[in-house]
Amino acid sequence: MSPTTTADSGVHEPLALDTDPSAYLALHDALDEPVADALLDARELAVRTLARQVVAEHVAPGAADRDRDHAFAHDSYQALARAGLGGLLVPEEYGGTDDSTVAYAGAMEEITAGCAATSLVYMTQMHAAYPILHAGSRELAERYVPGLVDGSSYGSLGVTEPGAGSDASSLRTVAVAEQGADGGPERYRLSGSKTFITTGDRADVIICFATVDVSAGRRGITAFVVDGDAPGLTRSSPFSKMGMHGSTTAELFFDGTPVPASHRLGPEGQGWKIVVSSVTKSRISAAAQGVGLARGAYAHALAGLHRAHGPELPPDVAFALADMRGRILSARLMLLAVAREVDRGSAGGGAIGLMKQTCTDTGWQVALAAVKVLGRFGDLAALGAERYLRDAKVTQIYDGTNEVQRLLVARDTAGRLTGVLR
Ligand SMILES: Cc1cc2nc3c(=O)[nH]c(=O)nc-3n(C[C@H](O)[C@H](O)[C@H](O)COP(=O)(O)OP(=O)(O)OC[C@H]3O[C@@H](n4cnc5c(N)ncnc54)[C@H](O)[C@@H]3O)c2cc1C
Repeated sequence: MSPTTTADSGVHEPLALDTDPSAYLALHDALDEPVADALLDARELAVRTLARQVVAEHVAPGAADRDRDHAFAHDSYQALARAGLGGLLVPEEYGGTDDSTVAYAGAMEEITAGCAATSLVYMTQMHAAYPILHAGSRELAERYVPGLVDGSSYGSLGVTEPGAGSDASSLRTVAVAEQGADGGPERYRLSGSKTFITTGDRADVIICFATVDVSAGRRGITAFVVDGDAPGLTRSSPFSKMGMHGSTTAELFFDGTPVPASHRLGPEGQGWKIVVSSVTKSRISAAAQGVGLARGAYAHALAGLHRAHGPELPPDVAFALADMRGRILSARLMLLAVAREVDRGSAGGGAIGLMKQTCTDTGWQVALAAVKVLGRFGDLAALGAERYLRDAKVTQIYDGTNEVQRLLVARDTAGRLTGVLR
């Protein structure tokens, strides 16, 4: 008798949840946790439902291809914008829906669970719009924010420089004022470079942080709205990265780039305040990505185990699966609680840092566990868990590294304990 050869089953086929919207919805609906849902009001639940539907139909099905081909998440992001999800935190007068931070966090989790790279493009639109809304003139908001909401333009937030990462206040891009007839600045000329800028290769509008006085440290930092076609602005091609392949990351070079004084966000020297205010929103974004990555990886682990073993989940992975579910729920509860406090205007620095660190660490840890419980299948692109692991890493790095978050939390703890422990 000749030896029989058998193929390992399902090593090449994508999971149904990555191709079939109804399979995606059925699994993710089944993973909802009523104790977390109880924290959402009717509108927040409706936003989540809408986001999940759009993700199931237009975002998740192309996620593996975007990752493999390093294809910018244009179509998936446009589907979200078309559905009216592009301006959740933007006032209605600028095309948004003026929703709560909780609703935004829920939508971010949904988008990330389907395609983390799409969520990175999505959140960067908000991160570019927010400083304009927070500190810009009405004219600037009317000119730039609606396009960031409806997806007709892309935005970037430019803080990081080759010599200024975690210590963003040491940035060296300079803004030199040119006086007008009235003696005040008529325009500024920006010179310097920004690096690791999300959507930087194609942004139509860039929020650029520069200094009007290098010797003044934080007090010199000033923010500007720069048009993507401004003279003297050039860009690198996108970096090749571990994950988030559907989102681009690039360098920006400013060589005497003229920017009208009317494009300055707030007074000279107020840029650091804008950075500090912006990170509250951006850390909600990153934390929601952590929860979404964890849930997406968990869903892929469950579906992959089902393919490998049938409906009976193997008992030897039951404890790991229970741990994963518990971690996701804990992180989501923290995310929603902090987002609610942000809406009330009272979330302190300690809570923001704890949330960002905990939720993004959860994304990484659960994605790692998902790859592990799948055994050799965890290594397969077709089963998707490895993509969540690669995508999760950077959420621990950007929007303030998790080491820096721990530093902020440690400072907050020390402050609370001053004079308490004897
Ligand atoms: C994919 C991607 C997208 C990004 N998008 C943007 C963007 O759109 N806009 C933008 O402006 N920036 C962006 N960034 C940059 C990101 O915000 C920075 O990478 C981040 O702030 C960390 O800075 P750094 O890389 O220079 O690390 P460094 O500051 O050089 O830190 C190196 C290491 O030292 C640790 N460390 C630093 N300081 C301390 C400290 N005081 N105590 C303990 N440990 C410390 C850090 O945690 C880290 O592990 C992006 C980065 C990536 C990877």
